[in-house]
Amino acid sequence: MAETKEKVIIFPFMAQGHIIPFLALALHIERQKGFNVIFLNTPLNIKKLRSSLPPDSTIRLLEIPFTSSDHGLPPNTENTDVLSYTNVFRLLHSSISLRPSVEKILKDLIRENPSRKPLCFIADIFFGWTAAVAKEMGIFHAFFSGCSGFGLACYYSLWLNLPHRKVDSDEFSLPDFEEASIFHVSQLPLNIFEADGNDPWSKFQLGNLLSWVDSNGVLFNTIGEFDQLGLLYFKRKLSKPVWPIGPVLLPSESRAKQNEFTSKLCRDWLNSKALNSVLFVSFGSMNTISASQMMQLAMALEKSGKDFIWVVRPPIGFDINSEFRAQEWLPKGFEERVSSRGLLVQTWAPQVEILSHKAVSVFLTHCGWNSVLEALSNGVPMLGWPMAAEQFFNAVLLEKEIGVCVEVARGKKCEVRCEDLAEKIELVMNLDSEKGNEMRRKSFEVKEMIENAMRNEINGLKGSSSQALDEFFSAAMAAKNSNA
Ligand code: UDP
Repeated sequence: MAETKEKVIIFPFMAQGHIIPFLALALHIERQKGFNVIFLNTPLNIKKLRSSLPPDSTIRLLEIPFTSSDHGLPPNTENTDVLSYTNVFRLLHSSISLRPSVEKILKDLIRENPSRKPLCFIADIFFGWTAAVAKEMGIFHAFFSGCSGFGLACYYSLWLNLPHRKVDSDEFSLPDFEEASIFHVSQLPLNIFEADGNDPWSKFQLGNLLSWVDSNGVLFNTIGEFDQLGLLYFKRKLSKPVWPIGPVLLPSESRAKQNEFTSKLCRDWLNSKALNSVLFVSFGSMNTISASQMMQLAMALEKSGKDFIWVVRPPIGFDINSEFRAQEWLPKGFEERVSSRGLLVQTWAPQVEILSHKAVSVFLTHCGWNSVLEALSNGVPMLGWPMAAEQFFNAVLLEKEIGVCVEVARGKKCEVRCEDLAEKIELVMNLDSEKGNEMRRKSFEVKEMIENAMRNEINGLKGSSSQALDEFFSAAMAAKNSNA
């Protein structure tokens, strides 16, 4: 029987931090629009994805052939999760070699059903080349950014204004962001700090950005209400539409590595705590802190006297997925002394469940955008400790523009003092603190803003993010009809 539904192609870069938001997007499109979603990736990533799809999903997973050893990578490595910093770039660069296979898949899809050409192709921001491929085949194309508008805008503005490694000053401004403050060298991701315009990272990023010209626009996992500055940057720079359609988050059944034992442990523990009393500490799926930072953080948690859940990972220099050696990496006797008020989680934590619990008051986070969206959607204010990539700029957006965060530390090498950390924990968590109450009030406002943005039609009115998704598909449909 001929396919009657519209086809939407989705293609993320091979990194969990990219695949997860794309999977969330795929499920969102399937549920909101009922379209036929086709998810492209390399074989090992597709294999892993099979178990993440809910049983009722009809998303089609298509493999793109890939042999990592052809690109100087260790055998069977198709995801940044298992790669060193140097090899991450190799994997990124090797993705250009996927082009002929992607072209073939698109041609096959068109041949399969010429009267139902794919409606659109939504690709990763690192896959600039996909825009020309889609254009050649007359398919509407957009990038999807799993980052905030502001974070991505700063990130790309930095690439477009190299170099930044200055000897005379640690501070600099970017021409595109006069309003948004002065940047400090400690906010530079390592690859940008080292870039001079001629190194492999710069060449890749600048070439990638140039090819955006062939795209029809950019979808963002953010909401327009609090991320205008970054969205405007892209609108002006690209002279193309941007569609803030977020927050698009994974439904619980598709979240990775759920461990029922840990979930129950956290749930029972949180149920025993008072409303708004717990600090949740987690640095995401890939980042950890140095051994000395870890000691200071432990001492700060002890000094603060607050209840806390801390997702502990081995410090920098050790395999992040290896066993956590509390005796070695935490102050002597720490676990015993805090046993009544601190829960250390050594496995994958049920972060969304934790953030949505009424006992949780504040989130100490590395400001990865998924974590931020999860905190904002649950009205939880943040203590920011950005570590890498655009997390530094997310922290600026949260603190300076939205007012729901206080930065406590920056990067994996900075010196942190237990007294400073404890002071900031107190500032934000104390229920009598003016600053803390102001942040709680704003976080609650943002939570409501998000609920409104995602709202489907009530009395003929849609929320801004739902509306943006409609506008995106209307533009795709109009383009398809005019090409027909
Ligand atoms: N996460 C989780 N449990 C953990 C660590 C991370 O559920 O123990 C999830 C978290 O909820 C978020 C994602 O992993 O959805 C991390 O994404 P983010 O963009 O915040 O940071 P990244 O890990 O990409 O640096």
